Amino acid sequence: MKVFKFGGASVQDVDHIKHVAKIIEQCKEEKLLIVISAMGKTTNALEKVAEDFFNGRQEHALRLFSDIKKQHLTIAKYLLVLEFNDCIARLSDLFTEVEWLLHDKPVREYNYYYDQIVSVGELLSTSIVSSYLKEVKIDNNWIDVRDILRTDNHFREAIVDWEFTTNAAETLLLPLFEKTNLILTQGFIGSTTDCESTTLGREGSDFSAAIFANIFNAENLTIWKDVEGVLNADPRIFPEAIYLEHLNYAEVIEMAYYGAQVIHPKTIKPLQNKKIPLLVKCFLDTGLPGTRIDGERAIALPPVIILKNNQALISLRTLDFSFIEDEPIRKLYNIFNTLKIKPNLIQTGAIGLQISVDDIPAKIDAFGQKASLYFDVQIEKGLNLLTLRHYNEESLQKHLASKEKVLMQENEVTVQAVYR
Ligand code: ADP
Ligand code: ASP
Ligand code: MG
Repeated sequence: MKVFKFGGASVQDVDHIKHVAKIIEQCKEEKLLIVISAMGKTTNALEKVAEDFFNGRQEHALRLFSDIKKQHLTIAKYLLVLEFNDCIARLSDLFTEVEWLLHDKPVREYNYYYDQIVSVGELLSTSIVSSYLKEVKIDNNWIDVRDILRTDNHFREAIVDWEFTTNAAETLLLPLFEKTNLILTQGFIGSTTDCESTTLGREGSDFSAAIFANIFNAENLTIWKDVEGVLNADPRIFPEAIYLEHLNYAEVIEMAYYGAQVIHPKTIKPLQNKKIPLLVKCFLDTGLPGTRIDGERAIALPPVIILKNNQALISLRTLDFSFIEDEPIRKLYNIFNTLKIKPNLIQTGAIGLQISVDDIPAKIDAFGQKASLYFDVQIEKGLNLLTLRHYNEESLQKHLASKEKVLMQENEVTVQAVYR
């Protein structure tokens, strides 16, 4: 059995969906679990709906949602004839679920509403793709992943309940594979024991696909992208980026952890644990070999460049000149844990430390409040974090020499710098 994952870019419009169907058509003789994201930039659009709703701009939220509805209905209209009515009925049910909620007043936390609203993106896209596959006579089974992928109730960053999910996948999905070769489901979303929708964190569909690959011991997982494969840098920022034919799990998990946007950082572990190869293939040119990621030793790599913008540098100092030892560190990590803040870079001194984190204003504000009980807290925003792996003189010179650096760290393989 194989697992495929198509991201938002691969299902962004009518032509792209037709193209996805062609790729699937070529593999329809094998057992295939297909995980799909929301279409194009739908998740961003739904985030705006959630924000408006929560901040009391109900009319505006409904208007934005109505635009999203129209986009999906238009695509369904262009793609479908025989399957049109069934698909519209399913889309309408999904629209209604969200509209009911939007007509209410928010009484729970923001993240809860975010997940109830944003999760519809994947349900809509997969409904349309499933109907289109049927339209072109590719038999498939559409599954609401919320019946399978169980999580806790940390809305927006839900943690997967592997035991429940494995059991549900084996009892509900495996029998379906007796009847059909293709199962189509959503990435990024799951649900709690109370049947409330959850999401796994932005770009989390890669992770969903890896979860299923792990559970089913898949032969491999193919993530279809709009790039040749994994490159040594983001081609949108560094047009001279070079294609990498092979990488090992350890390299990719580091790249993703430091912020390379090509693969979600949680994707690698479930694959590595079962030694399942990850293939990153070009959606636009299926003949290209793509990048293979597995446990094999990688050949010498060129410098790998990862840029993360929007960093906040937090500088902490103990209030009474005590050393940064067990107790202050424990307090600090408690705060990180409570707020789910992930430090990107930490540098420790005698009585202080500096930490670069993604600037999510609500989290940074809450952090400032909690940490100021124990530390003097300074925060500088609007910074960038550049990570260079496998660096050499030339790459250091090219990417870092002229930067106004505020923090830098270096080991044999990796240089990281926070700069203004
Ligand atoms: P999808 O959501 O469709 O799966 P994304 O847009 O999230 O795809 O990811 C693909 C994009 O990731 C590419 O278009 C590319 O600009 C970007 N990217 C960032 N870093 C890399 C990298 N190291 N190699 C390849 N692509 C990268
Ligand atoms: N649709 C979600 C997002 O845009 C999940 C994903 O694409 O992986 O973040
Ligand atoms: Mg994406």
